[in-house]
Amino acid sequence: MSLLQILEPGSAAETPVARRRAVGIDLGTTHSLVATIEADGSSRILRDENGGALLPSVVCVLPDGQVQVGRPAQALAGTHPQTTFRSIKRFMGRGAVDLSEAGTLPYAIVPGEGTVRFQSARGPLSPVEISAEILKLLRQRAEQALGGSVEGAVITVPAYFDDAQRQATRDAARLAGIEVLRLLNEPTAAAVAYGLDNASEGVYAIYDLGGGTFDLSILRLRQGVFEVLATAGNTALGGDDFDRRLAEWFISQMGLTPNAAGFGELLTQARQVKEALSATEALEIALDTGADAPVVHRITRAQFGEMTADLVDKTLRLTRRALRDAGFTPDQVDGVVLVGGASRMPQVRAAVAECFGRPPLTDLDPDQVVALGAARQADVLAGNRRDGDDWLLLDVIPLSLGIETMGGLVEKIIPRNSTIPIARAQDFTTFKDGQGAMSVHVLQGERDLAADCRSLARFELHGIPPMAAGAARIQVMFQVDADGLVSVSATEQTTGVAAQVTVKPSYGLSDEEITRMLADSLAHAGDDAAARILVEQKVEAERLVEATRAALNTDGAALLTDAEVAALLQALHGMEQAITGHDGSAISAAKAMLEPLTDAFAARRMDHNIRTALAGRQVGELGG
Ligand code: ADP
Ligand code: MG
Repeated sequence: MSLLQILEPGSAAETPVARRRAVGIDLGTTHSLVATIEADGSSRILRDENGGALLPSVVCVLPDGQVQVGRPAQALAGTHPQTTFRSIKRFMGRGAVDLSEAGTLPYAIVPGEGTVRFQSARGPLSPVEISAEILKLLRQRAEQALGGSVEGAVITVPAYFDDAQRQATRDAARLAGIEVLRLLNEPTAAAVAYGLDNASEGVYAIYDLGGGTFDLSILRLRQGVFEVLATAGNTALGGDDFDRRLAEWFISQMGLTPNAAGFGELLTQARQVKEALSATEALEIALDTGADAPVVHRITRAQFGEMTADLVDKTLRLTRRALRDAGFTPDQVDGVVLVGGASRMPQVRAAVAECFGRPPLTDLDPDQVVALGAARQADVLAGNRRDGDDWLLLDVIPLSLGIETMGGLVEKIIPRNSTIPIARAQDFTTFKDGQGAMSVHVLQGERDLAADCRSLARFELHGIPPMAAGAARIQVMFQVDADGLVSVSATEQTTGVAAQVTVKPSYGLSDEEITRMLADSLAHAGDDAAARILVEQKVEAERLVEATRAALNTDGAALLTDAEVAALLQALHGMEQAITGHDGSAISAAKAMLEPLTDAFAARRMDHNIRTALAGRQVGELGG
């Protein structure tokens, strides 16, 4: 017989519900880190056995297939440049064809379609698999620190990550055995870290300058709700560019001609100098130039500021654009949050302060702020809710989403910078009588013509019941979930027949492309408007031709004289000619010829139809 066990009062096992351990992961281009929230609500960065918080996002695959991650991998870069993968985040969700820099990379790219792959002793490796190695190590670190398994994680991504890049991040987590509770935009995570601590209402700018990426978000915090009003960024601008400037300066100042390996070493030195200049006004650098004694050179913070002023300026231009998008001037912003290691540079801080007319917030460590915010969100999603934690997060989509309509035009259904999650529907109709199917072409971008936007997916809706042109009602519904993943459905309203697609492009859109597409839409605003008018004229004209031909087929012989039919056919022919051209006025002229004839024909058909309709009826039926 077994005895019932009774707990001693005050013993640990008395705690009624175990805390669900969830972590926040900042999967950075340069560094990654993991954080959690303690039972008392305080946040904690989880460290490695040496007390290090930042894990360099570097993975090395050795010739025997062994994998090294972090500092050991960094140390192997010199001897195994081809398989020491850095900044792998840049390749997430990308195809080999997307890599304009492919030729300059030290890696061996496996030729082929779809996602990019690099040659290694483990076979071809995708960016997803390489990122998974970083995530695996962070998971182990978390399990060690927390003394048990982890329930799930919130992983942060740049606000500019598109569908494919977000999907790739999710896939990497799955490979690493991590359940993703939510993908969270990095700047939003930073706002969470600050917003909860300061809990004030207002509009905030999050300025994130990391190793290789720049992101700016304009957020509104209202009644405990964070809303991202606008984002701007550049995935090819960060601290690395400042290192390069400094290395080039070394070269020009000292008349060096380094080889590739030498330049790599210079970059490492440049990075140290850059970081040191954040703390000191001037520095003596000893550079080994191959001569007997190293050359000693002096550099000041002011000199460094001068040689990198244009880089800082670039970030400010993007900042002002995001502000414009959100409809604010810099002085209307209530606070500026600095994120990312490179935001420590004094010239960056000064420039940001000047741009906004106020000093930025720097209470939290800019390296850790994203992970801390992600941990907070993870804790809430895992169900460890405390009073005051019932907030909701909203993000935005960076580019408009829509579908192609007749004539290659784009109908935007969800405009850019809409907050997500979002669902929006719009009704469309058929173009032809009895049209039984409809092709839905899903597009992303700001331009008016489908050809100028990015094609995300195509699918077809079949089984539309036969109806006159324009009678069917097909509802096209766009849904963007909290992770920014898009699904589109089309439903014919009377029968309920539906088709749908979840958009998973095989590789993504770079932010240069996004920037270019946005710039194009402004530069071509005039052309686009003219092109749109022409296309609309053509669609309208085609509709008229289509309807007239259909009417001629059914009633032409009965209601029109041969001469009238001939005149109509001639006018129709003129219109068809005009439609094939690019001259709006020719279409207008053809329409002026055709319309009086079709109007007269339509009037006669109406008379005839009424007479036919009345023909069989009793007079009494018509009532009084
Ligand atoms: P990411 O988000 O891209 O992973 P981080 O936020 O870790 O990047 O930032 C890394 C960048 O920050 C590197 O370029 C690094 O040199 C730079 N950085 C780190 N500390 C400092 C410092 N004290 N002064 C200037 N730059 C710094
Ligand atoms: Mg970062």
